[in-house]
Amino acid sequence: MKTAAQHFIYQNDVLTVDGVPLDKLAAQFGTPLYVYSKTALIEHFHQYADTCKRHETDDIHSLVCYSVKSNSNLAILNILGREGAGFDIVSGGELLRVIAAGCDPRKVIFSGVGKTTEEISLALKHDILCFNVESFAELQRINRIASEMGKKARISFRVNPDVDPKTHPYISTGLKENKFGIPFEEALSCYEQASKMTHIDVTGIDCHIGSQLLDDSPLLEALDKLIGLYDQLAQRNIELQHIDIGGGIGITYDNEEPVAVPEYLSRLFRKIGEWKNANYPGKPLAIMFEPGRSISGNAGLLLTQVQYLKTNSDKHFAIVDAAMNDLMRPSLYEAWHTVLPVVKRNGSALTYDVVGPVCESGDWLARQRKLSIEADDYLAVMSAGAYGMAMASNYNTRGRAAEVLVDNGQVHLIRQRERAEELYALETIVS
Ligand SMILES: *Cc1c(COP(=O)(O)O)cnc(C)c1O
Repeated sequence: MKTAAQHFIYQNDVLTVDGVPLDKLAAQFGTPLYVYSKTALIEHFHQYADTCKRHETDDIHSLVCYSVKSNSNLAILNILGREGAGFDIVSGGELLRVIAAGCDPRKVIFSGVGKTTEEISLALKHDILCFNVESFAELQRINRIASEMGKKARISFRVNPDVDPKTHPYISTGLKENKFGIPFEEALSCYEQASKMTHIDVTGIDCHIGSQLLDDSPLLEALDKLIGLYDQLAQRNIELQHIDIGGGIGITYDNEEPVAVPEYLSRLFRKIGEWKNANYPGKPLAIMFEPGRSISGNAGLLLTQVQYLKTNSDKHFAIVDAAMNDLMRPSLYEAWHTVLPVVKRNGSALTYDVVGPVCESGDWLARQRKLSIEADDYLAVMSAGAYGMAMASNYNTRGRAAEVLVDNGQVHLIRQRERAEELYALETIVS
């Protein structure tokens, strides 16, 4: 299987994406610029979809629901939709994106702790596959709205299995003290009450324990807990049709070695197959996944241009034209992104902090990197396909970057660079 690294390689000392030199793209479209490889995106999706296919049986089915929040560009959603993906959304806006991208809302699952009345109505109107309900109050709201609309809402509870995913605290979501999901001990009573509601159709159970997991043991531990709950519900005649294990598999940013997706899925399907054959032979069950980062993360990078090189009392800074508003992960999580020169130089290397022009000390993209660079050089900030553009803001009235998709040598602009006029177009002066 190809790794991401093989999609972004040096050819004659120039970094390329699927054969297209990045300095050409930077010159043509300007910087900062997000660049994605369609081939990489599709390969990463098929690591899930193909392994699922191999493990499907007459009564075990699966659906891979791409997490829209990791990268929500319409072109990306459209490509994945055509490959057969469903979608995991966390807002009404993301549902409208899925529809605008030409994808099927009936393959959408809706997660998130704060679904509003408007969002729930919108989702019911479009007949989404399932609400991942995160509180009893939310369940009551869904039941009321569905009743007003004369509909039945399919729901699963997002339970909090209280396993430690051993990842960054900001991206760990399955511990007791997190705001996500319902506590494991309350799940049975929630299901019992839900099963009596007139406009609720209880279809599944789900969890999502965190992000950037390198090891699948916490996920398999969470699966055991979900299976245990499934059994307890079955004893009470509440028969679930699906188990959704969430997303969370990590990627290589630096030298991490995340579990390979096919290996994780094989272990998971083996566990499910053994349990189901022993207890519920012939009973249909769908297994669902909500991967984001492991599909989009290493399918993209952020191109930026060095504006100035500067030395303040022994410390060297490369001031570039991308900033924390373009890629927030370093400021937010102190995340590491590898930084590569687009065209390699032979000169002597210095140790730089790569920083943006935004007026915050937290505005940095990389620290203490040995680089041989000069002003005007282009740099590639790697592994920026997930939670990059999707988290970008307009802080400092900076228009968000343009986005380009490389499709086997063909280059497509998939989002124009924002202009300043667009940023204040919705504002009004009071006289
Ligand atoms: C963010 C999120 C995901 C995707 O997580 P990754 O780590 O990107 O795979 C899946 N499910 C839910 C509910 C999420 O909030």
